[in-house]
Amino acid sequence: MKNKINIRLVGIAILAIIATVAGITVIYYNLFQVQVRSDLAVSAKLLKDTHYFESVNIDTDKIDLSTDISELRVTWVDTDGTVLYDNDNTAESLSNHMNRPEIRDAFRTGTGESIRRSDTMKENTFYYAVLLDNGTVLRASTDAKSLWSVFMSAAPIIGLIILLIIAVCVVISNMLTKQLIRPIEMMAQNLEDTDFTSPYKELDPFSDMIRSQHADILSAAKARQDFTANVSHELKTPLTAISGYAELLDSDMVAEGQKNHFYKEIRKNADRLIALINDIIRMSELDRKGGVPFEEMDLYEAVSECAEGLAVNASQRGIALSLEGQACPLRGNRDMIKELVENLAQNAIRYNTDGGNVWITVKSQDGRAVLTVRDNGIGIPASEQHRIFERFYRVDKSRSKATGGTGLGLAIVKHIVEIHDANLELDSAPGVGTTISVYF
Ligand code: ADP
Repeated sequence: MKNKINIRLVGIAILAIIATVAGITVIYYNLFQVQVRSDLAVSAKLLKDTHYFESVNIDTDKIDLSTDISELRVTWVDTDGTVLYDNDNTAESLSNHMNRPEIRDAFRTGTGESIRRSDTMKENTFYYAVLLDNGTVLRASTDAKSLWSVFMSAAPIIGLIILLIIAVCVVISNMLTKQLIRPIEMMAQNLEDTDFTSPYKELDPFSDMIRSQHADILSAAKARQDFTANVSHELKTPLTAISGYAELLDSDMVAEGQKNHFYKEIRKNADRLIALINDIIRMSELDRKGGVPFEEMDLYEAVSECAEGLAVNASQRGIALSLEGQACPLRGNRDMIKELVENLAQNAIRYNTDGGNVWITVKSQDGRAVLTVRDNGIGIPASEQHRIFERFYRVDKSRSKATGGTGLGLAIVKHIVEIHDANLELDSAPGVGTTISVYF
């Protein structure tokens, strides 16, 4: 960043210097040209007023100007354009001057002027011609530097100034960047301090975003820590039980008639472990999953495929399960939706009472496919309802464990609902029952 600012600042300074020098040179050169032309005109008119050339009257040998005025070239031209005298050359060596614009103008209007560039571009020659009283023309001319050579003669000084400015710019831009960056560095150091305001209001959206991302990262890290702690705890309980029962059996301290009970307990805890591990693997799969493949499917069909198995499960616990509804087209992931139905229905069976009911309905409402799982079981107290979708949160821990619950079912449901961009609605009252609806 420092280098970029340095280069830009120096670049701007160089451009500014070149533009200024070029502008001043053009203005100065124009003034200089005006001055040269007016000096030439004055000289030519002065020479005319002396009537010197009329007095010599063609006897050009008498004329001698070359020693006195070397910067000024004087040419005297006859009425037919023949050069009668030139203080720089011999008259005979010069061609007819009638076609020179300044001479032509002087014959026509009394005065004429023109500027001609030299071949080298280094100099310009300025001409001013006046008509003398005897009909001949007197021309004064002088060489002056061209605009380009004036500019070039300033080049060394411009170069020097540019070097100086570069040095100053580097120092200033170093100071500037330090000043600019210091508050940003301060902000980075105080990211967690919510009272710390960003030094520039332009940085507000940036700092807000970084803060919220920072908070997200912290809370995700905390959630991961909590999850790991919960998982370890959840796994430890059945493993400790299995180890304890196995130890008892191993030490031959169990009466023959009781052994069966211990075997069953070991089996039950092992099943619990498997269920837990399956749900944990599922949870982390859902956490990782990016692009879930969606397909055009029928919600009613998917639910009916689960209903049979669920009904058997329900009847084992003396609960009646029914499915009602009609075909409901939906774009989603079939396996995930079946998993969602099974989790909701298992809960409706698990947290029910003997002789209870589970009603599953599928319908279309305002163009949306709606799945509802209702039971007349134990219900959920209002104070607990907002927490039941959290990982490992259980209202009645012992009942959940006794019935094979892992505490992850609704967390998986919530995940699947989010993946499908659907909405969840929970309506429950203790002793009355629970209704959970998913609006796809
Ligand atoms: P679990 O494996 O313990 O059932 P869930 O995440 O599926 O875990 O559910 C979380 C908690 O929400 C359950 O432990 C239970 O207390 C409560 N719950 C879920 N569904 C119902 C329901 N239909 N009726 C009563 N309570 C329920």
